[in-house]
Amino acid sequence: MRLLESPDQIAPLPPVGPGLIDAIQRSGLAGRGGAGFPTAVKWRAVAQRSRGDAVIVVNGAEGEPQSKKDRVLMGARPHLVLDGAFIAARVLRARRIVLYIGERHTAARDSMLRALAQRTEPERGLVSVAAAPPRYVAGAEAAAVHLINDGVATPTNVPPYPFERGVDGAPTLVQNVETLAHVAVLARTGAIPGTMLLTLAGGVSRAGVVEVETGTTVADAVARAGGPSDLPRGVLVGGYFGRWMKVEDALPLRLTPEAGIGCGVIGILPTSRCPVCETAAIMRYLAGESSAQCGPCFFGLRALADACTRIASQGSNAADLARLQRWSAEVRGRGACKHPDGAVIFLSSALTVFAGDFEHHQSHDVRRTA
Ligand code: SF4
Repeated sequence: MRLLESPDQIAPLPPVGPGLIDAIQRSGLAGRGGAGFPTAVKWRAVAQRSRGDAVIVVNGAEGEPQSKKDRVLMGARPHLVLDGAFIAARVLRARRIVLYIGERHTAARDSMLRALAQRTEPERGLVSVAAAPPRYVAGAEAAAVHLINDGVATPTNVPPYPFERGVDGAPTLVQNVETLAHVAVLARTGAIPGTMLLTLAGGVSRAGVVEVETGTTVADAVARAGGPSDLPRGVLVGGYFGRWMKVEDALPLRLTPEAGIGCGVIGILPTSRCPVCETAAIMRYLAGESSAQCGPCFFGLRALADACTRIASQGSNAADLARLQRWSAEVRGRGACKHPDGAVIFLSSALTVFAGDFEHHQSHDVRRTA
């Protein structure tokens, strides 16, 4: 049963208990928000600590600019997401559920609230809503917990991790909405759908969200979006925290949890766009999304974005190329969260895949964005 084709209806929740965590483990389900962490490990960590006080955070922040799959799912199948949350609450003995939805995703939030209004009074009594600000890091687990506790959507130092001490100081499961929907299907049918939601972006004929079988190739997913709109020059797999790939490497890539597809964005760069300018634009965006709490992240990403922009606007030079390599190594692992790591992994892929473009770049209009 596909998520986006399943009936969105209210039905009694199936009987569930701790055995569901074993079923999740057997299914191999991994988080669909970006990090790809094994779902059963997260659930077990909360279950071991819950004294009937756990909290479930339904993560629909979707701060990745190119991703749309979470808001499409919340708009189309809100009861499936709610089922996943209520099932998590039963299995983990939670006393509170927080719907954490991007404040700009108004249609998705309204859909979730309409669905919630149709649920039973005891179910509704568990749930509150929090608005995730439109910032890249707002979807990080620690940022979600920080916002719900203190009204500030910036990551905090870990440990303690949310599963140890999260919302209200209680063990907290922060779980992406698509992951919860998969759990809801698993609890009813005994198997996860074996599909994944993708956002096809950039140079495709019909940009948007598609649901594909796990193991589908990138080429088949692009075909589902009407095929490339122009000759592709590169493929951004996994969004801004993902990686650039050469077209010939990306198209045969099979989309599995192990493939490193992050939040499920497949961005096609057409030949009409300059990869150096696109990379510089994304680096400027990521530098601007630093929460400015950690020096290496705030200053380092800004310096990397400036060096990329100089190459894009003024042409290639050996000094800036050397700085990009050196500073990337110095920034990595130096933040309270993974924001700088994600940014330099993305940059490193650009320097590899588009090495010739970076080395021989002529000046360009740097205002163009991916
Ligand atoms: S690493 Fe960057 S984004 Fe993360 S908490 Fe520190 S300053 Fe904020």
